[in-house]
Amino acid sequence: MPTIPITVAYGDGIGPEIMEATLHILKEAGAKLAIERIEIGEKVYLSGNTSGIDPSAWDSLRNTRVFLKAPITTPQGGGYKSLNVTVRKTLGLYANVRPCVAYHPFIETKHPGMDVVIVRENEEDLYAGIEYRQTDQVMQCLKIISRPGSERIVRYAFEYARRHNRKKVTCFTKDNIMKFTDGLFHKIFNEIAAEYPDLENEHWIVDIGAAKMADTPEAFDVIVMPNLYGDILSDVAAQIAGSVGLAGSANIGENIAMFEAIHGSAPRRAGQNLANPSGLLLGAIMMLVHIGHTATAERVHNAWLRTLEDGVHTYDIFDESISKQKVGTKEFAQAVTERLGKKPHTLKAVSYNQQDIAEVYGETIVKERSDTRKELVGVDVFLDWLKGSPDDLGQSLAKVAPEGLQLVMVSNRGVKVWPGGKSETFCSDQWRCRFMSKDKGAVISHKQIIELLASVEGAGFDFIKIENLCNFDGERGYSLDQGE
Ligand code: NAD
Repeated sequence: MPTIPITVAYGDGIGPEIMEATLHILKEAGAKLAIERIEIGEKVYLSGNTSGIDPSAWDSLRNTRVFLKAPITTPQGGGYKSLNVTVRKTLGLYANVRPCVAYHPFIETKHPGMDVVIVRENEEDLYAGIEYRQTDQVMQCLKIISRPGSERIVRYAFEYARRHNRKKVTCFTKDNIMKFTDGLFHKIFNEIAAEYPDLENEHWIVDIGAAKMADTPEAFDVIVMPNLYGDILSDVAAQIAGSVGLAGSANIGENIAMFEAIHGSAPRRAGQNLANPSGLLLGAIMMLVHIGHTATAERVHNAWLRTLEDGVHTYDIFDESISKQKVGTKEFAQAVTERLGKKPHTLKAVSYNQQDIAEVYGETIVKERSDTRKELVGVDVFLDWLKGSPDDLGQSLAKVAPEGLQLVMVSNRGVKVWPGGKSETFCSDQWRCRFMSKDKGAVISHKQIIELLASVEGAGFDFIKIENLCNFDGERGYSLDQGE
């Protein structure tokens, strides 16, 4: 096995202790790693760099392309950004992979048979961070779901399932409501699933899917989800498996990957030799598989399982009726090293093989931009307005449409309020006013939109944004409102 350079950050709070414990185990297991240490987190923030990461650290990451990161503290208040989000986005770490496994009967769990891997899209969705205050009353966050982003994550989930001998990939979305964004994710899931006939596939609406996962996680194997659902449900999955303290995760990009525990820096436990290093160790095991050191990964993983099985437990998982010895961070690490070469008796021993590593630089088959025919058929003009009833607005606006265009609908918070609105509908100060060609279904021009905006402004209205309405290959590319 060649020696592989990796970048390591010791993090904050319990970070340094659990990182030392983890690296000690890896060293004793014979992992050939050349470690480059970087400074990130609290110290860097407090030195005045609000990104929490020193510019030189990026060079190390670019150089090694493998990052083992201990948890970091995000100082509260002020302009501090989450370093995790910065690192994920900057390095294009599009896939977040979290295995959530029960270790029954050695760790208390409600779901003894649970063994679920959550694959979460990591860059898009409501986490694109595009937010606006549009009016006095209304804030907006854009939910961005792209075809390449969705293809990449869904394919990753199927490749992961195949390489890890998993049987089924499930997709969670809410496409009964978000027909365009979640609808695209689901559609791409179906397209890609067809390329993997050896794997079962299924789709659940996220609400009932989440309920099923919390109740009967054994029904699932690999679950792929857009970012927000994945963020929430991967914590739920880790917690119901046993503890968030026992889960590691991989953040995979095309060129760089980051491995970590899913828990935070637990500052109150810092410096007392109390913390459980298991989450970070499991992240490090995923890293060893990633770099092709599968034999070492297997040795460490099995020794760790044997340690749990032998009842050597840190305070957070200690249970008098099950555990045999309460230990600190260092002693736990020592117990794992003493079991290197051993396998668990009751828990299922882990085996990794070389094909597991191919996922790392897994090809991303993103379709070329197609020659879809796009036609501009209308425009939604959003207004900040609070001067009267929907009928007042509709009647005044209908008069401002320039030659060739007509106002077809006004809606408020997604409900049509003109023409023919209901008096019970509550209205905020943000209005969506839909203009289309007088000639039903005909194409309009950008020039007509510019004339329209001039005329809207001339009539004293405050427009806050526009959205073009287009058909793609004759198919409507915009949602209708409730009641439209
Ligand atoms: P946390 O996960 O750090 O701690 C919550 C509680 O869980 C702790 O009080 C402790 O009782 C327990 N715990 C967590 N990890 C443990 C371990 N390894 N061993 C034993 N007990 C453990 O969550 P928090 O208190 O909400 O966050 C603390 C800080 O961590 C915040 O600044 C937050 O921003 C940061 N954070 C960082 C990451 C990351 O770096 N990936 C993730 C989450 C939170």
